[in-house]
Amino acid sequence: MEEKMALPKRRHSHSRTRTRRAHDALVAPTVSTCSDCGEPKLPHRLCSGCGSYKGRSVVKLQEDELD
Ligand SMILES: [Zn+2]
Repeated sequence: MEEKMALPKRRHSHSRTRTRRAHDALVAPTVSTCSDCGEPKLPHRLCSGCGSYKGRSVVKLQEDELD
């Protein structure tokens, strides 16, 4: 038996496609600097460079993780 799938009744305009894509732009993430080690980090996240958050050490990193 032949497979049936729903198809759009008519194509939509370039304008409609472009209007939809108006919200598709990529935005660069906001980057702040760690107050402990100065590495770039995401705000409200612990630092991946030294494992600290709000000035205190939260996660003890292993030696091979530190660079
Ligand atoms: Zn840090």
